[in-house]
Amino acid sequence: MNNKYKILLVEDDENIRIMVGAMLESAGYQVIETSSCNTAITLAVSHIPDLILLDLGLPDMDGIKLLEYVRKTDLTPIIILSARSDEMEKVKAFDMGANDYITKPFSAAEFLARVRSALRFSRHSADEGCLAGETFRFRDLRIEYDARRVFVGDREVKLTQTEYNILAYLSESSGKLLTYSSIIKAIWGQATEGSVKRLQVNMANIRRKLGIQPGEYSYIVNELGVGYRMNTD
Ligand code: CA
Repeated sequence: MNNKYKILLVEDDENIRIMVGAMLESAGYQVIETSSCNTAITLAVSHIPDLILLDLGLPDMDGIKLLEYVRKTDLTPIIILSARSDEMEKVKAFDMGANDYITKPFSAAEFLARVRSALRFSRHSADEGCLAGETFRFRDLRIEYDARRVFVGDREVKLTQTEYNILAYLSESSGKLLTYSSIIKAIWGQATEGSVKRLQVNMANIRRKLGIQPGEYSYIVNELGVGYRMNTD
């Protein structure tokens, strides 16, 4: 697969961080690592990861603060990694929106299965919605649904999973105006406070990567305050 999932790994124990990072990379994921909760918050905003793996006992502040912060604005799946097996803490993490909770130590097989499961949560139905082998073509834009690859002319456009899902979803209804809430529902399952902002950030990245500049052709039109439409003119 061309579009690698991006995983933010927040863990201050260096041995565990190296081990988990290596497990993820060997399974084909792109990994961003940090040992600090503050840095993690910055990275979550700037990199828009597809999944966050979060240790709760961090040196600068409790990892639960990151969970709280992310859940205020978006639905990125979060798996808690913790050495503690305290029941109340688990309940608290789930109440605050954690998707899963893995108690250290864990086996690579179980860990990777849980990662795949959490990523399925964020993946939208573009996979099922498009026929195998089908290709979307309009002007210079080409989307190969099977391979999940996007091209503008001969240039391949490198999108994150979320960006690809959004673009594929828009292309399935090209010409039609899709409201913010319908896109958010299709991509993330449900809307929370900040979902529109998250969609706008992803959309800005997609438009930039497609090469949308003044004077260039706009494949995606923003109907301000309403939604987006894949252009067909
Ligand atoms: Ca720790």
